[in-house]
Amino acid sequence: MKEYKIKPLHTGWFYMNWGLIMSPIAAGYFADLPIFMFLIEGADGEQIIVDGSYQHDHVPKFIFGPHRTPDLEVPEVLRRNGVDPLSVKTVLVTHLHHDHTGYLHLFKNADIYVQEEELLNSYFPMGYQAVGSYQEEWIDLVPQFKLVNGDFKVKDGIELILAPGHTAGHQAISVNTSRGTAMIMGDAVYLYAGLAKRFPKLFYEVVEKGGVAGKKIDLTDPEVQAVLKKVFSARYGGYFGPSILNPGDIMRSLAKLDLMADIIIPGHDPELLRMRVIPDDYDLE
Ligand SMILES: [Zn+2]
Repeated sequence: MKEYKIKPLHTGWFYMNWGLIMSPIAAGYFADLPIFMFLIEGADGEQIIVDGSYQHDHVPKFIFGPHRTPDLEVPEVLRRNGVDPLSVKTVLVTHLHHDHTGYLHLFKNADIYVQEEELLNSYFPMGYQAVGSYQEEWIDLVPQFKLVNGDFKVKDGIELILAPGHTAGHQAISVNTSRGTAMIMGDAVYLYAGLAKRFPKLFYEVVEKGGVAGKKIDLTDPEVQAVLKKVFSARYGGYFGPSILNPGDIMRSLAKLDLMADIIIPGHDPELLRMRVIPDDYDLE
């Protein structure tokens, strides 16, 4: 099978309550977390782009606190990484939230892969789901969309894996590497901490910082330990995805992706900032 390398492309920051979205257990965790696109590269020079980052004016600033320095502007990041957007033939979109669609319009000659469910639900979102939908960023690109339903092999070594819950038609990207299957999780999980059984140390770090009402949580407190034990031994225990739409679906999706993946690449984890190339720089397990 063809092997690829993956480069996380850092394109800005959101300052917001990431803990609350991960789990009520970490509800007080405010932080600056990075916004990524991903560049998948074959040894033959093939370049595939995952997601499209955000346009500053298409993010409600009072919720998400977006900010970026000039070196993180998307056209500059692409240039620095040797990507000419007009030469890219394949773009894979995990979901149609505003921090994943802002610069898709740069890829004028690409097929853009999206789940059909995602297109329909993002065109006419439910309730507060609408906060993250900016249809004007992608509606003119629909003729470039390749709609898929469920798991789909894009090409040798690259597959789309349906993983709903964060949004209705959210998908992850399975990439074959020299160290097995790397899973670009999209927003099925924001942080390594969300896969708590696989990365317990990182999970406890977030929980500790995320005490309710600004209080630090004491992990040695027997009551805290009892509650965490109860959660971990529950059905699909230990999976903490950002449940924007459906908490049950996201736990099932995370359990599935966890089983499939040798390497995990979450949507918004600062750990990725030091991984210039995956799998070469992946050192978490
Ligand atoms: Zn999202």
